Amino acid sequence: MSADDQPTPMMAQYLNLKAAHPDCLLFYRMGDFYELFFDDARHASAALDIALTKRGKHLGEDIPMCGVPVHAADQYLARLIREGFRVAVCEQVEGPAEAKKRGAKSVVKRDVVRLVTAGTLTEDALLDARRNNYLLALARAGGALGLAWLDMSTGELRTTTSTPAGLPADLARLSPGEILVPDTMLEALDREIGEWSSRMTPLPAVRFDSQGAAKRLATLFDVATLDGFGQFGRAETAAAGAVLDYVELTQKGRLPPLRPPVREEAGATLGLDQATRRNLELVETLTGERRGSLLSVIDRTVTGAGARRLVADLAGPLTDPVAISARHDMVQFFVDDDRLREDFRAAIRQVPDIERALSRLGLGRGGPRDLVHVRDALAGAAAARFVLGNAGPAGIREAAARLEGHDDLVALLSEALVDDPPLLRRDGGFIREGHDPTLDELRTLRDESRRHIAALQQRYQSETGVPALKVKHNNMLGYFVEVTQRHAERLGATFIHRQTMAQAMRFTTTELGELEGRIRSAGERAVALEEEHFERLAGAVLAEGARLAACAAAIAALDVAASHAELARTADWTRPVVDSSLEFRIEAGRHPVVEALATPDDGAGFQPNDSDLGTATGRLWLLTGPNMAGKSTFLRQNALIAILAQMGAFVPAKSAHLGVVDRLFSRVGAADDLARGRSTFMVEMVETAAILNQAGERALVILDEIGRGTATYDGLAIAWATVEALHDTNRCRGLFATHYHELTSLAERLEQVTCRTMRVMEWKGSVRFLHQVIPGAADRSYGVQVARLAGLPPAVVRRAEAVLKQLEKSGGGRKAVSFADELPLFAAMAQPPAGPAVDAGPTPLEAALTALHPDDMSPKQALEALYRLKELLDDRRD
Ligand code: ADP
Repeated sequence: MSADDQPTPMMAQYLNLKAAHPDCLLFYRMGDFYELFFDDARHASAALDIALTKRGKHLGEDIPMCGVPVHAADQYLARLIREGFRVAVCEQVEGPAEAKKRGAKSVVKRDVVRLVTAGTLTEDALLDARRNNYLLALARAGGALGLAWLDMSTGELRTTTSTPAGLPADLARLSPGEILVPDTMLEALDREIGEWSSRMTPLPAVRFDSQGAAKRLATLFDVATLDGFGQFGRAETAAAGAVLDYVELTQKGRLPPLRPPVREEAGATLGLDQATRRNLELVETLTGERRGSLLSVIDRTVTGAGARRLVADLAGPLTDPVAISARHDMVQFFVDDDRLREDFRAAIRQVPDIERALSRLGLGRGGPRDLVHVRDALAGAAAARFVLGNAGPAGIREAAARLEGHDDLVALLSEALVDDPPLLRRDGGFIREGHDPTLDELRTLRDESRRHIAALQQRYQSETGVPALKVKHNNMLGYFVEVTQRHAERLGATFIHRQTMAQAMRFTTTELGELEGRIRSAGERAVALEEEHFERLAGAVLAEGARLAACAAAIAALDVAASHAELARTADWTRPVVDSSLEFRIEAGRHPVVEALATPDDGAGFQPNDSDLGTATGRLWLLTGPNMAGKSTFLRQNALIAILAQMGAFVPAKSAHLGVVDRLFSRVGAADDLARGRSTFMVEMVETAAILNQAGERALVILDEIGRGTATYDGLAIAWATVEALHDTNRCRGLFATHYHELTSLAERLEQVTCRTMRVMEWKGSVRFLHQVIPGAADRSYGVQVARLAGLPPAVVRRAEAVLKQLEKSGGGRKAVSFADELPLFAAMAQPPAGPAVDAGPTPLEAALTALHPDDMSPKQALEALYRLKELLDDRRD
């Protein structure tokens, strides 16, 4: 290797660190920047749209480089993580002075202090305040599939078991930011993991060891065995161990304050797979917007923790009627007392996010503001507790109890901290005056010395007779005396020359040097002392970690209950009854989103509809009716009401009695799924297969226009067979909207199938949809009428009517060729009737219309006239 090829000491250090973190972009700290080199620089500059420059050479080639300023690093990190990168943050771990002691050419020691990955974020800037961000691990042991997930920013750790078939629904519920999988499982789970594969981090299988994990967890939570927290299976323990291991790896040995693990029974939440969630537009619409989603309509929470809890509740509605009813009790409490609800919401509105503050403090990444957040949150909690009083159901009383009992900590923090502290610890100034006499003394010394400097300036001015003499400060020289060139000669020997500028000369004096030393050392000692106080206060906060987390969770739960109550009161929602029956009876149900978004000027408002899927009225409803009549809306509103009821909310209906639903499936025929590159019909069939294979007696199945994506007879045949299977084999409750009117004949043969249709007002070629669900079957599709409403050219509408008539006459069974022969050509029909129009004169209908004088008619005469007109029209048609 030639001398040129030798990397510089700094580059050697960089290459070593990079070699240890090959799968990360390395943020290499240099002064006020994080620099990236080589391929890292190329990738980051493209992803962040920042300039790619170069610095020095390596092996004879330019080294590509780009950099981001440290003060703005969070926003760049956020973008890189979103783009799927992982980032290793490398800091200087000693000062330049220490490096110099080791030799003039030594580079400052640096080390990677943290890996930033999608599942391990804690900074507010990198997180959505209103969503949880989970790090999830999968593990297999003893034939079971275990899941464990942690929200690093709140310390919440949970586990459950799953099955390969159930995994997609579990992942859809948790929507983890990052998924840890043993490399040995990757291939076997390829299909189940499907669209989550981009969030996957494969790890060596040895990291998923259940025995080691059990010991780790027990030590961490200071218990002999984990049994006190629940019966964790080996697979769940292994997954939990892998999560903790990964957090330690990325946080370089530190862990956030964790809450004891909570085990969720498999099946404790309503199974909703990704297609169903998407289709029902729970948290975002099919086009990816928040507005128009169920969440956007129901979220009336006033705190970040409450909003996160609401999203989690919506993602995993419960299946235990007792737990559901306990949540309804809490909502009822807030419904019953408007004043109390308003006061409570006002009290918690200002409460800062304790969960995330706690986690930052635990990871050593906290600042004075996190302490102040804890202080203010606890004070707010105490005020909210006061509002709640001592009455109410168990859920309210238990939550209320968690809001109090933090007075000592609040007192300690209030006494120690200023009201509005700076962001960073090293800025100092966050400890309140009077808290620590030594600190006060140092601050006085520092401030007095500053005053001495001002006095010194005056003295020097009079001693030298230079009134323009100034004592100034900059970072390079510290304090110095400045005079213009012209005055410099007047200064005596006490003034030692430091610098000559274009306009001025700068000097120092022994006295000034001493004063400066005093200021600096007092300042440094004050900051060091404040740091000590910070550690002490953070320690006091963390010692209460578990109780503070419980307090935060209580605020979240109460916020959610009050949010549901607020909605129930303002939008007229009612408390549902959820029990272990198989009922599904809704009186005057409404679609929460369609109702909320309906524009006030569209007249009629939302038309409520009943549904009853109990065995007495038929478990399966076949719903026919034209396009745009409101079938999909009706189907979805029933699914949404079940979800709302089971998540603990009230529902948009006059009354609702639901036997708990364990799985909910919602499918829409012919929904485009081009993004995933599957034909729409194929998607539809894959999804239908999932339902037929998985739905049991407690399931609720919503099928909208299944079989649409193929030829008529194929589609009808599949829809037919599906209804039969749902009836005979799955025996679930279901709503089936179809345009195949032939299916309605199934109702005669299958005991639990009944027909419903959408009420339509028809009057000679034009239709009005009343959005009412009534017993019976539609006999026609009204497609042509809808086409007319949509503005198809009149000639095309007339032609379609003619073709339809012919088709209906032929019973649809004839060959297209012969049938085409019988139809006059389009061109012939599109032309106005032959013959000179001028000779035609007014038609009888036109003549009758011209003869009418509405102003002179009584209502009865008007009605009679209408009948006459209709008759004339009928005559003309015949
Ligand atoms: P379909 O599935 O029968 O084609 P949709 O359910 O998509 O019909 O409804 C069409 C439109 O009718 C909706 O966009 C909505 O604005 C309106 N609509 C549906 N149901 C109702 C209702 N119950 N009350 C008022 N408007 C409704």
